[in-house]
Amino acid sequence: MRASATIERPPLQVNVTHLRCRLCGETEPVSASHVCGMCFGPLEVAYDEHLADRRVSRAAIEAGPASLWRYQDLLPVLSDDPDLRVDLGTGWSPLRPAPRLAQRLGLGELWLKDDTRNPSGSFKDRVVTMALSAARAMGIDTIACASTGNLAGAVAAHAAAVGMPAYVFVPNTLEQAKIVGAAIYGANVVAVDGTYDDVNRLCAEVADRQGWGFVNVNLRAFYAEGSKTIGYEIAEQLGWEFPDHVVAPIASGAMFVKIRKAFGDLQRHGLVDGSIPRMSGAQATGCSPVATAFEAGTLDVVPQRPDTIARSLAIGNPADGYFALQVAAETDGVIGHVPDDEVVTGIRLLAETEGLFAETAGGVTVANLARFAADGRIGRDERVVAVISGNGYKTLDAVAPTVGPTFEVSPSLDDFQAQLAARSA
Ligand SMILES: *Cc1c(COP(=O)(O)O)cnc(C)c1O
Ligand SMILES: [Zn+2]
Repeated sequence: MRASATIERPPLQVNVTHLRCRLCGETEPVSASHVCGMCFGPLEVAYDEHLADRRVSRAAIEAGPASLWRYQDLLPVLSDDPDLRVDLGTGWSPLRPAPRLAQRLGLGELWLKDDTRNPSGSFKDRVVTMALSAARAMGIDTIACASTGNLAGAVAAHAAAVGMPAYVFVPNTLEQAKIVGAAIYGANVVAVDGTYDDVNRLCAEVADRQGWGFVNVNLRAFYAEGSKTIGYEIAEQLGWEFPDHVVAPIASGAMFVKIRKAFGDLQRHGLVDGSIPRMSGAQATGCSPVATAFEAGTLDVVPQRPDTIARSLAIGNPADGYFALQVAAETDGVIGHVPDDEVVTGIRLLAETEGLFAETAGGVTVANLARFAADGRIGRDERVVAVISGNGYKTLDAVAPTVGPTFEVSPSLDDFQAQLAARSA
């Protein structure tokens, strides 16, 4: 039995007071806007902190549903009507021990945050749950996004489930599985002849013209809050404790930064004691603007033109790159990058040791983890959590050339026995 039988959660209450500039601190009213009117910096959600202090407790969270909405009092609520919230059961994904992978990498204690299990197969379901719920509360009638792939599927699925028209803009080089994985939900897929950064620019223009809600453009302040739930869940699933070290992939850097923010929220509200974990980031060499800046010891991110099989991470001009570098520096983390062949090795190693099939972003995370372990940047005494953010069936092409049938036999016992013997010899 869930504890919800005994602890009643109070009715929803609006908890967002305004939007605040992350650079200059200027405040703006709550709306579908993402840039500061003063300095053009990015905006974030500002909460009624007294309300949160009154409502947040371990017991209230534990009494909540097995989805990210168990953290409702730490997430943007723009309407007290629970029916306007979108909930496909996203979040509360497993945190599993990974002893076999730990042993292979020479690590002491390793856990996997398995976000391959979300409704559309990636962590993007978390951010879309937030953005779409905010959009509905604001009366927006059409939802859209600029996507490197996974966001398209997440937006399309959640929009379908609430009957909202969706337009997803993607680079026309995207994997077929990701195009199909968005179009199948009835979304309009706009394939753009350009990189993700071109797509993103186009979407900012369309957002201004059409008045649509772009989850990661004009709804970005609400969208980004969804990533915090990975951090909340990790701590709660470890028994309200922080790990020592978190390794997560970086595309725009938003998820990485928001996991750090989540740990800060838990500390501030007295839900978890202990110090903030080290935060390390993972990129693919073919799109490594943040890792390159980290190596150079600067907070200035120089945009790159992506060329990697890790398409879900292929953002050449990352919006949160600067903040991600700050988080790594402040927590004594590192940000690394690995070539594509190591990404493939990482995917296979994770699957073969732990039975978890991840997409290329997961391969990037595991391969960077392997390097951090090998060069001593993660110690054997650390409790490490690796964020595995997307499902392997989305990027079959990346690994298909490296695996296949072990035996090719005629339907005859003799043939099979002969081949088996030949192989073991
Ligand atoms: C988008 C994405 C990321 C990274 O997201 P950012 O918040 O933009 O850094 C990581 N993994 C997968 C599978 C993704 O789709
Ligand atoms: Zn500003």
